[in-house]
Amino acid sequence: MTSLAKKQETANKKKRLVQSIDDRLDTLAKAIDKVRASKIFTDYLNSQARFHKYSWNNSMLIAMQCPDATQVAGYQTWKKLNRQVRKGEHGIMIIAPCPFSKETDNKQGGTDTIEGIFFRAVHVFDIAQTDGPELPTVDLPTIEHCADDLLAQLVSVAHHRGIIVNFASLTGGVFGISKGGVVDVNNSHPTGQQAKTLAHELAHEALHKTNRGALTRSMAELEAESVAYVVCMHSGLDVEVRASHYIALWDGDSKALRASLDRISKTARGIIDDLDHKAIGKAVA
Ligand SMILES: [Zn+2]
Repeated sequence: MTSLAKKQETANKKKRLVQSIDDRLDTLAKAIDKVRASKIFTDYLNSQARFHKYSWNNSMLIAMQCPDATQVAGYQTWKKLNRQVRKGEHGIMIIAPCPFSKETDNKQGGTDTIEGIFFRAVHVFDIAQTDGPELPTVDLPTIEHCADDLLAQLVSVAHHRGIIVNFASLTGGVFGISKGGVVDVNNSHPTGQQAKTLAHELAHEALHKTNRGALTRSMAELEAESVAYVVCMHSGLDVEVRASHYIALWDGDSKALRASLDRISKTARGIIDDLDHKAIGKAVA
């Protein structure tokens, strides 16, 4: 092949890859919106909306009194969620701010309004202290396939990029952590899931370790998971169900994905290029 023909071939290959990444991201965007429109998902969001976001102080109070608490709400909120606090359960004490205003007569014969805030102790209960039908949940399935080769290749890509990969049994439902130059992967899952996790963390390493700017956590998760989706699907590992649910649970949608298309596409292409050339070249050498 002449060098011109070679150049042309490389350019065509790149064009095809860019197009296939665009197509995959379009499929993912549609899958995310489908999850968001499903009844299971809207039921879940409606039930989650009833849970209050507690202040740092109150979160500490809850953790001190009930370290295993997972979902905490007041007596009436549990009732609205069709769950009943069991008789004899001791509530978890938190501090609730109570704004007040009162009117007083002033010397000019008019009234002054005094506004203030006082705090009172209220009691909340963990879900384990209640009985009733299960709360709506959205299934976030773990990838059950094996993908030993892809996992090994992604480890090579990480090494090529100067990133250390630690495999460990992580607790607390953590699948992976990106620490800047070091990535932890939970190795208690099948290798397909571990490959997806590693691709996700490699995307965080590439996109979010420096100059993250005003990017929100949900946007960072959308970007990392979309990159992982493209990389895994390109390598023949189907991760669509997990990726679309994961992004929807992080409040991502097709609009947000399209707003970040360039960053996602470039990062995915970088990892795929590394998989195609450097990593495999190294493994063979
Ligand atoms: Zn992440």
